[in-house]
Amino acid sequence: MKKTDLPILVFHRRIVGAAFIVIVLSLAWSVTELIAPNVASLLPLPPLFIAVGLTALSGIILFVSVLKSYSPAAQTKTLSELVHELSQVENKSEIVINAIGDGVVALDNKGIVQLINPAAQSIIGWDKRDAVDLDFRSIFKLQTAKGEPLPEELSPVQRVLGGNPTITTDELTLLTNSGKKMNVSLLVSPLGQFGSGAIVVFRDITSQMSENQQKAEFVSTASHEMRTPVAAIEGYLGLALNPATAQVDDKARVYLTKAHESAQHLGRLFQDLLDVSKAEDGRLKSDLEVIELVGFLRETIATLTTRATDKGLLLVYKPDVSEDSQVAILPIYHIEADPDHLREVMTNLIDNAIKYTKSGSVTVDISGTTDTVKIAITDSGIGIAREDIPHLFQKFYRIDNSDTREIGGTGLGLYLCRRLVESMNGRIWVESEQGSGSTFFVELGRLSEEEVAKREHAKTPATETA
Ligand code: ADP
Repeated sequence: MKKTDLPILVFHRRIVGAAFIVIVLSLAWSVTELIAPNVASLLPLPPLFIAVGLTALSGIILFVSVLKSYSPAAQTKTLSELVHELSQVENKSEIVINAIGDGVVALDNKGIVQLINPAAQSIIGWDKRDAVDLDFRSIFKLQTAKGEPLPEELSPVQRVLGGNPTITTDELTLLTNSGKKMNVSLLVSPLGQFGSGAIVVFRDITSQMSENQQKAEFVSTASHEMRTPVAAIEGYLGLALNPATAQVDDKARVYLTKAHESAQHLGRLFQDLLDVSKAEDGRLKSDLEVIELVGFLRETIATLTTRATDKGLLLVYKPDVSEDSQVAILPIYHIEADPDHLREVMTNLIDNAIKYTKSGSVTVDISGTTDTVKIAITDSGIGIAREDIPHLFQKFYRIDNSDTREIGGTGLGLYLCRRLVESMNGRIWVESEQGSGSTFFVELGRLSEEEVAKREHAKTPATETA
């Protein structure tokens, strides 16, 4: 018997089964009566009557069972069970929402507060009785990081109510009921189907932000202060190694060379740390200029040629290499970028290409479309395993294997490159195969000749008045 079957229905099914058997018997009896009437007359009641009786009984039972299931008593039982189940589900979700440490506010499609959990009430200082049924803007006063009013079109809540998918941000501040300003981490998601409302999950990250700020300030001050003595050590070691300024024996030269290299390494590390802290606390400002890329890269590459030749590598600048030994017609690529940042990115990438290549060459090439310029730095070095590629541009990520263990580095170079390229609205990526070399790409917006002329024109009056 199935769990849901009523006993009366089981009984009804048995009666129907019996009626079926009797109908078959009555058919057999009718055939017997035709063939042998003497034998048939021996039965006291024709099986047909029994079959009709049983079928009628099964009909009555079915009627009663249907009546029973529709009776008010049965209905009341089902309804009360349903209400009980629903209230249990509601209680469970309320328990969960109330236990969440993050603030949770649910809004309907017009932005009216439908639900506010205790954490949200204590973070923003609004009581549930006052907050429910109010427009979210009355209780949820979002501002920019600088504490300025947030324009409606930039409000993540407004954007999600307007049809945007989930938005997360750590960059806004919130004004509480008592006028206190706090940094918040915010996650706004659409509720159910489009247009049903939104759910806002948020937490106070003011102390976390100030800790991060203090850490960044410490790293920035420490690297700035340490860079000066390290530069002095590097300079004096350079003087000691210069035959024009000092005489040292061969053994001392070996030790001094090693000390000089380490001082240079330390100097680069402090510079990287300084740049990273600038990038993270928003001090990394781009001073944009129109740059003619082919000439700019030629100059940058010239400063790195000695490093490549010292290692026995060929540093090739593709635009200067004519394929058919004819004089090549160089294309002109204009971009708008910060020259110091671009130089730092290119130096880092070419430096890495030299560092992670044992033999062969490093080639720098430029190509472009009407809107973009792509710089490619290709080496014939150790290459990068596929699983390392997604992490390469993260802070402090270094690949640790037998090929890289002996090569010094900080794991900050590529992270910094990414931050700098992104600050110039560009993108950076790598294509590589372990053991077969790598190509790093940097793509930036290209300026048309008209745009270059317009910028030059805009600059001229300012220069004249200066
Ligand atoms: P590092 O100071 O360690 O060179 P980077 O951020 O510049 O830091 O690079 C991160 C890691 O990426 C390096 O440790 C190295 O393993 C790998 N890498 C970077 N450039 C190359 C390259 N051209 N070829 C192979 N591996 C590279």
